[in-house]
This record gives sequence, structure tokens and C-alpha cells, in this order.
Amino acid sequence: MQDCLFCKIVAGEIPSTKVYEDDSVLAFRDIDPQAPEHILVIPKAHIQSAACVTAENSAVVAHIFEVISELSCKLGFAEEGFRVVSNVGARAGQTVPHLHFHVLAGRDMTWPPG
Ligand code: 5GP
Ligand code: ZN
Repeated sequence: MQDCLFCKIVAGEIPSTKVYEDDSVLAFRDIDPQAPEHILVIPKAHIQSAACVTAENSAVVAHIFEVISELSCKLGFAEEGFRVVSNVGARAGQTVPHLHFHVLAGRDMTWPPG
């Protein structure tokens, strides 16, 4: 989709540090990491948010979670635990209107910290 930041990253028009790529999914490092490991996992096809997942496009979401599981083992944070977040809409903090899953690891995520 024109003027979508993550579509431009998918197209290679904006550079990113990729950690995984296949025909339908791309994972890359967040430019402003909120944890020692902060990866964004996105469908290559434009879906606006988790509120726009339907029976027609949900297969890629299942695949994204397979990729997240694979990455958590490959990057070594499966054992310690990690957080998966998808913000939906501006009020929830979504700033890029292309479905994405934040994968955060490498620090205590509990509050107050344990
Ligand atoms: P949201 O706020 O929509 O849930 O998450 C968008 C995320 O995209 C933010 O964590 C932000 O740091 C990240 N981001 C914004 N622009 C870029 C960019 O050009 N490259 C990368 N790698 N991440 C970006
Ligand atoms: Zn897009």
C-alpha cells in the first residue's frame, strides 16, 4: 500500500535489520527498542491492524506465531520468557497502521519488577 511505512520496508524502499523473511512474513529489529531484544513481525501483505483480521487473511497470523516461536529459540529467549504485543488503533498506541507484533525480550517485563 502506498505511503505505508511497513509496506515500504517490505518493498526494500526503507532499510531494516531483518532477522527473518519468507514469502508472507518479515521480521526486523525495531528502530527504537524498548527491550534488549525488540523485534517486529509483520505480514508482507497490508493488513491495517488486528481488528482487520478475517477468515480470508488469518492464515498469515498463525504463520506469524510459528515464526515468533522459531525466532525465540533461534535468538535464545524462549526459555527466559518474552512478550508479544499488538497495538490496535491510536488510543492503544498504534503508530504504524500495518499489522505488527512486537516481540520483546531480555529484561523483566513484570511490574513491579520481580
Ligand atoms: P506501534 O507504535 O504502531 O505499536 O509500533 C510501531 C513501531 O515501529 C514502534 O515501536 C517504532 O519504534 C517502530 N518503527 C517506526 N518506524 C520505524 C522504522 O523506520 N524502522 C523500524 N525498524 N522500526 C520503526
Ligand atoms: Zn502496509
